Amino acid sequence: MKVQSTSPLPKRIQLKRARGWRKPEGSVVITRSSRYGNPFKIGDPGPDGTPMTREEVCRRFECEALPNISAADMEFLRGRDVVCFCKLEDMCHGDILLRRANQETHSSELCTGNPVPQDEVDVEH
Ligand SMILES: [Zn+2]
Repeated sequence: MKVQSTSPLPKRIQLKRARGWRKPEGSVVITRSSRYGNPFKIGDPGPDGTPMTREEVCRRFECEALPNISAADMEFLRGRDVVCFCKLEDMCHGDILLRRANQETHSSELCTGNPVPQDEVDVEH
């Protein structure tokens, strides 16, 4: 079985506040202020009222926010690196965006059997 790889898989880059730091050319910022941001915040109360963990906000992003990102926006991400404040060793919704933008995968196994009512999702604030 031969695997031909012409370009390296896009990766996540940590956004730095250091003076003079610039994001690499072609990369896409996916912080909360962007259209790719995660509306769910670590520490905010989750569905059961307890503060959400990093893992939880990432899962909710994948299950509840990601479906609201347009196909065109996902297409735009394809082949591009993403830039977020998260440390690279931390779980980040950017990893989910990368995976989804660069593979033809659809609903995650994580999301099945764990429905969350859509009317509880407020992406405006
Ligand atoms: Zn992040």
